[in-house]
Order: sequence, then C-alpha cells, then structure tokens
Amino acid sequence: MKTPPLIPFWLLALTAAAIGMAVWATVNASMFDYDWQQTRPASAKPWFYVKVQDTDRTCRAILGTNASAMERINGCATWQPTHCIIYITPDAPRWIIEHEEKHCLGFTH
Ligand SMILES: [Zn+2]
Repeated sequence: MKTPPLIPFWLLALTAAAIGMAVWATVNASMFDYDWQQTRPASAKPWFYVKVQDTDRTCRAILGTNASAMERINGCATWQPTHCIIYITPDAPRWIIEHEEKHCLGFTH
C-alpha cells in the first residue's frame, strides 16, 4: 500500500497560488496606487473606446510632454466636456479600462 505524502500536492499548489496572488496584488497596489483627485466634472457621454495596438505610442503622441518618461503607457483618455475618448489595446484588462474611465469622470492623478 502506498503511503500518502506528508503534505498533499493540492495543498502545495494552493499555497503557491495564494502566495503568487498576494505578491501580484501587492505589486499591483503599489504600482497603481494613484492619488486620484477630481479636478473637473465628469465628461458628458458619449465616451468612445478606441482600440489601438500600441497605446504607448498613441498616448505619447496625444499627451505630449505630459506623458510619463519612464513607464510604458497602457492607455489614456482625453477628457472633453462634451465627450471622452479612451485609448486602449483590444485586450486591455478591466483595471486599465476602469482607470481610463476615471479620467473621463474628471479625475486626475
Ligand atoms: Zn491615468
């Protein structure tokens, strides 16, 4: 008869997954812990979602000197009183879309 291992494999896998998620959450929180401030009213609808392949290039062109020099830009939004345009990649994750929507709501960081 086979003796079961001291620590079952599923527990190891679960622990590894939990640690991985905790690290990921911490890294995310520190990297994207923006200091949001509402500086203007929310942009009126419609909001346009423009899918671009290279958000870094597109957004640098749009933002000009306001663009961060160091980080890769994952998306951007141009706030207008009458509408808002969000530039994202076709596979942009939810948090990037929500981030840019916050800009359309009149927040800056
Ligand atoms: Zn932003």
